[in-house]
Amino acid sequence: MVVKISNNKVVQKAANLIKKGELVAFPTETVYGLGVDALNPEAIRKIFQAKGRPSDNPLIVHIADLKDLQVLAENIPKEAYFLAEKYWPGPLTFILDRQKIVPDEITGRLETVAIRMPKNEIALNLIKLSETPIAAPSANKSGRPSPTDAETVFEDFGNEIAMILDGGKTEFGLESTVIDLSKKPFSVLRTGAISKEELEEFLREKISIASHADSKPKSPGMKYKHYAPKAELVLVIPAEAGILCFQIQKLINYYKLEKKKIGVLCRNENAKNYKNADLVISVGSIKNLKEISSNLFRTLRQFDHAKIDIILSESFPEQGIGQAIMDRLTRASSKSIANF
Ligand code: AMP
Ligand code: MG
Repeated sequence: MVVKISNNKVVQKAANLIKKGELVAFPTETVYGLGVDALNPEAIRKIFQAKGRPSDNPLIVHIADLKDLQVLAENIPKEAYFLAEKYWPGPLTFILDRQKIVPDEITGRLETVAIRMPKNEIALNLIKLSETPIAAPSANKSGRPSPTDAETVFEDFGNEIAMILDGGKTEFGLESTVIDLSKKPFSVLRTGAISKEELEEFLREKISIASHADSKPKSPGMKYKHYAPKAELVLVIPAEAGILCFQIQKLINYYKLEKKKIGVLCRNENAKNYKNADLVISVGSIKNLKEISSNLFRTLRQFDHAKIDIILSESFPEQGIGQAIMDRLTRASSKSIANF
């Protein structure tokens, strides 16, 4: 059941479902989450089942009160409090040593736990009224692009889950930045709205960045293919930015000969340049990377709705949130092409 948020009674109803161990989807500022009581192992198992998520891919626990940080984590470094004061509520997840109270089902049996405080009134109220921290991965079937509105959650789950709280379109449209604070040097395990450089400047120390190519990734989620549309996605990263449109047009011509149904994902400024593609979708102006991030996942699903075979995606500058945009596009793609 998709329910528009009219008043707190609706959120109270959702909280009652959480207390009973049911699954409730809810909006956050990043993407929609699929929530359960983080302290109820049986309820947590339902999440993995509903999503088809590998059980070694741990969940983020969402809190509404800073006091809950100590309930869930131990050996908390002072930097965690500095970061919380600056960025919480907000799109930044901490990895910390876990307290025993955190069920194994949440952490994929790791000794650490992921925690964040979302910046969304509905999410914060739901956590408060549920009187428990809420574990919530993105509310999509495993591997699919994350949902940025309630309709997309319904597209993946229909009536499989007890309730979907509809809070409209999410602000960022990409998942939180994940920073491992359990050991020094700290490291960014997943890029997001808050960049590594911004965190380094704030903490005045070097932070490393975990590579997807690691044979043993520090964040289990990084070894899985993610965010993928049904169409094949080809990410075009030319040696010089000036030939991006030229390269993509050559690829359109090539795939046209193969009789493929072709989509192009591009910035507003280039949309008019592409000829003979079946569907060209511009995700926003290059001057506004936040607009591009908020439209990205929804656009990938639009290509699927149009039954596109191959999506040719432009690449974007890897500055600020651009790092996260390129990370998600890379992980959604079947290949990257530099020159064609
Ligand atoms: P999702 O909620 O689906 O957006 O994914 C949560 C991300 O956080 C995944 O990439 C997980 O692998 C990562 N994560 C959660 N808990 C931990 C942990 N204890 N250590 C490292 N990474 C984690
Ligand atoms: Mg996810």
